[in-house]
Amino acid sequence: AAEAVPIPFDNTFARLPDAFYERVSPAAASAPKLLHANAALARRLRIDPAFLESPRGIAVLSGNDLTPGAEPIAQAYAGHQFGHFVPQLGDGRAILLGEVVDLDGKRFDIQLKGSGRTRFSRGGDGRAAVGPVVREYIVSEAMAALGIPTTRSLAAVLTGDTVMREQPLPGGVLTRVASSHLRVGTFQYFAARGDVDSLRILADYAIARHYPEAREATDPYHVFYDAVVAALARLTARWLLVGFVHGVLNTDNTAISGETIDYGPCAFLDAYHPAKVFSSIDHVGRYAFAHQPAVIKWNLARFAEALLPLIADGADAAIEAANASIARFDEHFNEAYVTGMRQKLGLASQMDGDADLAADLLRRMAENQADFTSTFRSLGEAAADPGRDADVRGRFANPSAFDEWAERWRERLSQDDRPPELRRRSMLAVNPMFIPRNHRIEAVIRAAEAGRFEPFHELVHVLARPYDDQPAYADYASPPTPDEEVRQTFCGT
Ligand code: AMP
Ligand code: MG
Ligand code: MG
Repeated sequence: AAEAVPIPFDNTFARLPDAFYERVSPAAASAPKLLHANAALARRLRIDPAFLESPRGIAVLSGNDLTPGAEPIAQAYAGHQFGHFVPQLGDGRAILLGEVVDLDGKRFDIQLKGSGRTRFSRGGDGRAAVGPVVREYIVSEAMAALGIPTTRSLAAVLTGDTVMREQPLPGGVLTRVASSHLRVGTFQYFAARGDVDSLRILADYAIARHYPEAREATDPYHVFYDAVVAALARLTARWLLVGFVHGVLNTDNTAISGETIDYGPCAFLDAYHPAKVFSSIDHVGRYAFAHQPAVIKWNLARFAEALLPLIADGADAAIEAANASIARFDEHFNEAYVTGMRQKLGLASQMDGDADLAADLLRRMAENQADFTSTFRSLGEAAADPGRDADVRGRFANPSAFDEWAERWRERLSQDDRPPELRRRSMLAVNPMFIPRNHRIEAVIRAAEAGRFEPFHELVHVLARPYDDQPAYADYASPPTPDEEVRQTFCGT
């Protein structure tokens, strides 16, 4: 029986009305080849990793075959792209195969990304080049290992077909796993059509799947909205605490589960600067590093507008309630951000000047092009041993900028009653040594495009343990040299 049903599908979205999706078959791949299968994730999802590596499994992962229980569909959604509303976007190059329930009883979507055209493809080919597949695999799995809510990657395959971009490139398919693919834009799709019945079905579905506690409330839709505000505020704080820039925070790329979704021109900061933008299509810095909280808040305001017909029939009181919920975004964000910054700085107690102390460090880092990740990592060592200050101050163009701050910091540490070794360990547990550095990803992609995948496998291996010193891979922790630095990323399709 285990062989007959290699993926234990248990689908719910496909039970929703026709207006929610198009039934569609994945396109064939001419010579599929497995690049990477995520055995640990597979087991959690009650899928035998050996199946994913078998010819039949590879056929499924490339779109050439369907296993029993799969009900392939392309989901409908709308969205604000760079502030402009597009009433229909939808899965143009993604196909949801179905859902599984994991060992903990949690439900997950299994989706193929890059497996052909759908009703929502517009001018696109529905395909993905190997580069973006590899990038999403690396970054999403790195985010998961960092402990940040995110979609996951179950597998990456080559299709054996060529996709045309600026040049011909090998095609690939990523198997994405998400606690759902419900986006702010999914709600906007029905709101924009004035289809309140579908909107209510969608909201009830989202509540049952993600926020079941809201069901008991007198105003479930308002409680649901509140919960999404809190989840996204906390998520945004996590991004800022690791130096992550999403790159395309359109409302269709904002999941109501509170997971990071859609890794396109994303990047991790090397040298810290709050205004840093990497995406080649973000000309005005709409999605700059430090602007992300404001943008997610903006997206949440669009979400409120979409839900208004459900919240007390859109009456004035409902608008007021929604506004009060949006206002709480800052509270949730600041709480998560300041708590996280205290941990990064090794502060055990809460004191009034803590947020200011963190801001002062970041200001000095920006002025001195200090590398975000390695500065915080080496701070942990310096916390236990001032003899290690050289490791930190050397990262500042003007090292005395650190010395002035360090004096303040040590003064503050002295007010905490915590043994230095404990402090050091707690800091190393939140300040990663390894992040997916842009120049490393670029090198892996260049190799993959040339048919070499060893660098991809090695990077995935290192990033699975971001908080552990891995001396054999110390190079992966190094910031780029000026020659290696990646200043721009491109919307991978
Ligand atoms: P994204 O920039 O990944 O958030 O995608 C925005 C929209 O463009 C979504 O509706 C995608 O499905 C669609 N899209 C992106 N790339 C392609 C492609 N190669 N073929 C078809 N549709 C695409
Ligand atoms: Mg998208
Ligand atoms: Mg994308």
